[in-house]
Amino acid sequence: MFAIGAALASGGVALFVARPAAAADPEKPAAVPTLDDLAAGRVRIIDLSYPLNSKAAYWPGDNYKPFDLRTIATLERDGVLSKAFSTPEHLGTHLDAPSHFERDGVSVDRLDPRDLFASGVVIDVTGAVAMSADYRLTKADIERWEAELGEIPRRTIVLLRTGWGRFWNEPMRYQNHDLQGRMHFPGFSAEAVEFLLKERQVRGVGLDTMSVDYGLSRDFVVHHVLAKAGAFGLENVAKLDELPARGFWLSVAPIKIETGTGGPARVFALLPKRAP
Ligand SMILES: [Zn+2]
Repeated sequence: MFAIGAALASGGVALFVARPAAAADPEKPAAVPTLDDLAAGRVRIIDLSYPLNSKAAYWPGDNYKPFDLRTIATLERDGVLSKAFSTPEHLGTHLDAPSHFERDGVSVDRLDPRDLFASGVVIDVTGAVAMSADYRLTKADIERWEAELGEIPRRTIVLLRTGWGRFWNEPMRYQNHDLQGRMHFPGFSAEAVEFLLKERQVRGVGLDTMSVDYGLSRDFVVHHVLAKAGAFGLENVAKLDELPARGFWLSVAPIKIETGTGGPARVFALLPKRAP
């Protein structure tokens, strides 16, 4: 039923799937787009990546530095405008590769491209996060989502909407250090991610904070669980409030750094155009 999703989930074999007849009932979802629709501009695309700049959030550790962009040639002087940039791998909207936390985990350049195209779902925990900045997605949250919206499809990417993205332009608020220097922001629980990996075979997970582990984490257990399973994490994902709970697809394109443990990623959500 999901043409692009089915094609991508099957490894790109069935690239062009006959489009079902347009739904006459406005309550029904819009017709599922094909890759032809995508190429012809008939698919809604939401860019889930923040622009890279010197204010983009990154992990507050020694040797971690802001994104830096400098001009190395100008039209006036050189007849060409050209710039050079430097950045930590884990800055802005980015992907964590399994090698980030596991000795034998694959690096970002060795990820299977088939894992970078998937259907997506969004689990919304903004209500719980409003009560506690230290909230972690539970298995019960997933069960509630599935009771309402159906089982999470296999091989999907699960995005967690915590509402934290509204602080993106306030780096101090986004990191949310307390007086002891501990950070407070929401994330996944290990139990929830273990369930998604084992029972739903997700390709990866992502969220609108700077870490898949909540801010207070010391052991980074969710990172370890993901890396052990060969799955990836997406952090600082933008615009999760613009996505439906299901019925969309994701294209995830991390920069291909040889031996990289991750890297800035361009993440697009593809949605059927709204029914007229
Ligand atoms: Zn990271």
